[in-house]
Order: sequence, then structure tokens, then C-alpha cells
Amino acid sequence: VRQVDLLVAGGGPVGLVTALYARTADLRVIVVEPRAGAVDKACGEGVMPSAVLRLASLGIVLPGRPFQGITYVDAQDRQVTADFPHGPGQGVRRTALHAALRTSAHNAGVERINGVIEQVRQSASGVRVDVGGRTYAASFLAVADGLHSPLRHELGLDRPTRRYRRYGLRRHFTVVPWSDHVEVHWSEHAEMYITPVGGDLVGVAVLTARRGQTYDQWLKAFPLVAERLRGAEPASRVMGAGPLRQRAKRVVDGQVLLVGDAAGYVDALTGEGLAVGLAGAQALVDSLLVGRPQDYAHAWHDITRTSRLLTETLLWTTRVPVLRRALVPAARALPTVFRRTVAQLA
Ligand SMILES: Cc1cc2nc3c(=O)[nH]c(=O)nc-3n(C[C@H](O)[C@H](O)[C@H](O)COP(=O)(O)OP(=O)(O)OC[C@H]3O[C@@H](n4cnc5c(N)ncnc54)[C@H](O)[C@@H]3O)c2cc1C
Repeated sequence: VRQVDLLVAGGGPVGLVTALYARTADLRVIVVEPRAGAVDKACGEGVMPSAVLRLASLGIVLPGRPFQGITYVDAQDRQVTADFPHGPGQGVRRTALHAALRTSAHNAGVERINGVIEQVRQSASGVRVDVGGRTYAASFLAVADGLHSPLRHELGLDRPTRRYRRYGLRRHFTVVPWSDHVEVHWSEHAEMYITPVGGDLVGVAVLTARRGQTYDQWLKAFPLVAERLRGAEPASRVMGAGPLRQRAKRVVDGQVLLVGDAAGYVDALTGEGLAVGLAGAQALVDSLLVGRPQDYAHAWHDITRTSRLLTETLLWTTRVPVLRRALVPAARALPTVFRRTVAQLA
């Protein structure tokens, strides 16, 4: 039986950064991840400024392309823009983000095992798990296996929700970004957001509660975007995710701590999933270092409160057609409110 301080289930961005924080504190840590290589995933790929700074403090300089803030655009091409108050965010391909994080984790001495955690057994002194027929023991298990977290389910920590199910689809196009902001376009039944991720590459994500429409059909619902992309070659296949809303009964269960999307997620509309997840990673490790894992539950609620509130409010507003149509004009009429809201997400 191998014994370590911390096992991390899931080597996505949040799992890897949790492991990095743990290594920084000299903990012995193993990350268990089934997928080899740089993992792609449906994501808007806008890394918010706070996450850019957090990663820089861990010595990780992100490739990609900076963006200065957020622009909302409606079907009549009315626009409102707000810059981030303290420096840019970074648009970065998931594969590039993952490669950068994997390299840093490897260089910091994070051990990585290819596989999935099959069984979790908790005792007062820690956790035992099986991976590929071998047993590993750890003081704590961080569950960072994503939105549909198989371990959250296995541990009985899923909190089912029937509310307003939304889905995301994304694809990349080879075209010089036409804006140095993330653009969010609003149509009747979906939002489309465009993130510059390279010198000649943009990511285009659709978020909607409607199922059954293809990505190309959605593009037609956004003629302003379709016009920008006319003649541009697709540079990736369409990837999807959802339902986006996921909840956990609790984020600390004995020696098991949920982090990142596995801990719960509202929607991608406000684009701060990574920033919140990475802040959670640090709070998780901090709680272990002082020997009070239960403190992480409070920290998680504090870290995610603003984002959850803003996202729920925006989602609620935009489900009412008349409010949805009024959103961009209202933001134009109240630029200070829009600026403050964007600053909250930065
Ligand atoms: C359409 C869309 C757009 C988005 N746009 C943005 C955006 O612009 N900006 C932003 O910050 N966030 C955005 N997000 C959210 C962001 O993608 C997530 O918050 C982020 O990826 C969470 O990282 P994670 O490490 O928690 O999970 P993931 O990135 O999902 O990683 C989970 C990892 O766990 C592994 N795994 C799965 N099962 C197991 C298992 N049983 N055992 C071990 N490992 C396992 C998976 O292989 C994966 O590598 C968006 C999300 C969607 C769906």
C-alpha cells in the first residue's frame, strides 16, 4: 500500500493546481487521471484576471491571448463594453492550458497515475482507494473529477436538481480575433461567446437551454457572428457539455473534499469557473495545512458566493423574454452597473 498525504482524483486544471499547492507546502501528493496527454474540453477558455495572477504566482505563464474585459452585444448590434479594473484575462486553448499545468505539476514533483479511483474507503485516520488493482492510502482525498463527478456520485454526495437545464457547445475558427474583449452575443434562446485564444484563433461557445439544434444551426441564429466567421476554417471539432447546473450535498465529507466543478457549478454564462475552482484549490490545501479540513466548507461558500449570486441573477433575468431583450440596452444605460458587475467577476 502506497501512503501519501493527499490523493487528487482528476488531473484537470483544478486537480493539478490543488496538487501544486500541496507540493508547495511539501506534501506528498498523487494525482489520478484516466486520460493521457493534454486534455481538451468544452470551455469558453477565458481565464479571468484573478486566475491569471494566481497561476503567475505559481510560476505559470499562460500562452494564448490577453483580453481586456467583456462586451455584450444584442441582435441589433447594440454594444456595451467594460474593461477589467486590474489587468487583463487570458484566452487560452484548453489543451495549451492543460499542457502548461501538467508541466508545472511534473516539475514540482507531483506524481501522476493513469487510471480511475474505483473504491473509496474512509476511516478516522484517512482514505484508502483502489486504482487498477493497487491500493493507495492518504490522509485526504481531493475530488476534482469535473462537472459530472463520478466520485461525487459514488460517495452519495450528488444533490439532484431539476431546475433550468442548460448546455454548452464550442468550436474554434481560424480567424484573426476582431476584438480584444470576450464578446457575449445575446439572441432569443441562446448566448454565444467569442474568446480570442491566439493570433489567428477564436473560440466560439454557445450556451442554451434548448436541445436538439446543431452547432451550425445555432451559428445561423447569430448572423453578426456568422458574418465575422464567413470563410474562416473550423479549427476544432464541436464539443459539448451539460447539463451545466450541478450541486453537491456538501463539499467536505470526512476526509474527502470536493473542489472545482465537482463541488458544484451554476452556469458558464459568467465565465469564472476556472478562477473560482483555482481559488478553491488553494483554500482546500490551506485547510489541510492547519489540520482543519472542515474549514474548507466555509471557505468554499465564501469564494463562490459572489459568482453564484451573479450567475443565478443573470440566468433568472434572461429567462424572462422581455428582460432578456432589455439586458443590453439596460447595461448601456447603466454603464457603471455593468462595469462594477464585470469587476466583480474579474
Ligand atoms: C461551455 C462551457 C464554457 C465555459 N467557459 C469558461 C470560461 O470561459 N472561463 C472559465 O473560467 N470557465 C469556463 N467554463 C468552466 C470551466 O471549463 C470549468 O470550471 C473547469 O474546467 C473546471 O475544472 P476542473 O478541473 O474542476 O474540471 P475538469 O476540467 O472537467 O477536469 C476534470 C478531470 O477529471 C478527470 N476525471 C473524470 N472522471 C474521473 C475519475 N473517475 N477519476 C479520476 N479522474 C477523473 C477528467 O478526465 C478531467 O481531466 C466553461 C464551461 C463550459 C461547459
